Amino acid sequence: MIKERVKKILSQLPADVELVAAAKTRGAQEIIEAVKAGVRIIGENYVQETERVQREIRERNPEIADRIVWHFIGHLQTNKVKKAIEMFDMIETVDSLEIAREIEKRCAHLKRVMPILVEVNSARERQKFGVFPEKVEELVRRLAELRYVKVMGLMTMGPQGESEEMRLYFRDTRRIFERIKSKGIRNVEMRYLSMGMSNSYRVAIEEGANIVRIGTGIFGERSTAL
Ligand SMILES: *Cc1c(COP(=O)(O)O)cnc(C)c1O
Repeated sequence: MIKERVKKILSQLPADVELVAAAKTRGAQEIIEAVKAGVRIIGENYVQETERVQREIRERNPEIADRIVWHFIGHLQTNKVKKAIEMFDMIETVDSLEIAREIEKRCAHLKRVMPILVEVNSARERQKFGVFPEKVEELVRRLAELRYVKVMGLMTMGPQGESEEMRLYFRDTRRIFERIKSKGIRNVEMRYLSMGMSNSYRVAIEEGANIVRIGTGIFGERSTAL
């Protein structure tokens, strides 16, 4: 099932669009299947869960483990940053200078630069994470001053709902992305625009996404609501 779904999605994605398999609550075996079917990037929301699943994948299949690129797509807490920077190749959800400074501090120790995306709260929802649209450029400019944090683009969730209702928010995020890109800020590389999930990735791609994050569309329905 996973194999067929991955192959179908990959065959439909434009060549310049990256697939992130959103794997929260999924086990090592499911992730291995997805990677064998062609998935390159795994997205995870929780640091502890990732630690467990990475260990298990390595035990079962070291070759697959070496191949996976890990993106953090959940909400990162300060006290998890130290672990997270050792486990992830990109953090898609930076939404404050505080969390970025913590990443900077921890990465400085390891002398490694962490690629990040700035998460945009494109629908200005109170209870959601992310930076409000009008604050994105200001944050990007502050992050540009950090040495071990490298801004590589923007990410947004958008509101829940029909994909057509999300189009507006994707379009808005794209506009911010292009505007910041056009400013040519030093140490900022506006390359990735991560938007769209199982029910909205087609619309997101139409609106300029080049990373889509798909969970249920690959692994099926989650048994636990997260
Ligand atoms: C779970 C999740 C997804 C994938 O959602 P699906 O509806 O299962 O495709 C994408 N992005 C983030 C941040 C997620 O937490």
